[in-house]
Amino acid sequence: MSQIVYVNGDYVAAADAKVSVFDRGFLMADAVYEVTSVIGGKIVDFDGHATRLQRSMRELDMVPPVTMDELLAIHRELITRNNLDEGGIYLQITRGAPTERDFAWPDPEEVPCGIVLFTFSKPLVDSKVMDEGIKVVSLPDERWGRRDIKTTQLLYPSYAKMQAKKQGAQDAWLVEDGFVTEGTANNAYIVKDGTIITRQLSNDILHGITRAAILRFAKEAQMKIEERPFTIAEAQEADEAFVTSATGFCQPVIEIDGAQIGSGVPGNISKRLREIYTAEMTAAAI
Ligand code: PLP
Repeated sequence: MSQIVYVNGDYVAAADAKVSVFDRGFLMADAVYEVTSVIGGKIVDFDGHATRLQRSMRELDMVPPVTMDELLAIHRELITRNNLDEGGIYLQITRGAPTERDFAWPDPEEVPCGIVLFTFSKPLVDSKVMDEGIKVVSLPDERWGRRDIKTTQLLYPSYAKMQAKKQGAQDAWLVEDGFVTEGTANNAYIVKDGTIITRQLSNDILHGITRAAILRFAKEAQMKIEERPFTIAEAQEADEAFVTSATGFCQPVIEIDGAQIGSGVPGNISKRLREIYTAEMTAAAI
């Protein structure tokens, strides 16, 4: 069965889908995006992702091309048409395709935003990463200063991921002014003496939808939380470390810059949080 994608109002076979060469997402990474996970054919935390998408667009003066109800209907239609059981939905909204390349933003009345969605199938609940954990290396955070806006400027995170792979790790933790900001595509946490430590929200990091849910569940389970920056040295001395993201859920980190974390296997708090997150989000998926 050929994959069906959504492009500017139409459901088309992926092979037939087209966007303009003048699209500002293509030319300038002038685009925002969301990735939402799907479990059992149902969407996880649609409201969280829709709310962040609207904020990203507001921050960049983009006018949404569809309402959030229409967006939910498109997500559901794509799940049905692609027979998706477990995986995710990628959504991108760009500042459209003016007739010429210009740094100034086009008038949204004349050039509407473009919108593209596609699905992907991926095992999320049963993941071998959970049993093994991942290794990370630290790299300088060389992204722009508005990381709270989920834009498609992903060259540096993708470059950092490749540097990590070259060093035998699976991901990088980015460091600015001596403190960890976040992973290339996830939020970063450490656990020390039972307290979960993660950087506080600001323009420096993406406000993870999974982060919000994980911290809510941790609070409900009476776990202690400190929202503050931490260093790589502090992380290397921690009892546990983990990362969170929509399609990764909660993944344990077992090594940072070659130093083993805790006993070098996934920690109990990360495991417990993943269990709670998976159960609660599966039950609440729509
Ligand atoms: N931080 C960055 C830089 C990301 O790219 C992502 C996800 O893509 C996250 C954090 C995690 O966000 P979420 O939990 O909403 O997937």
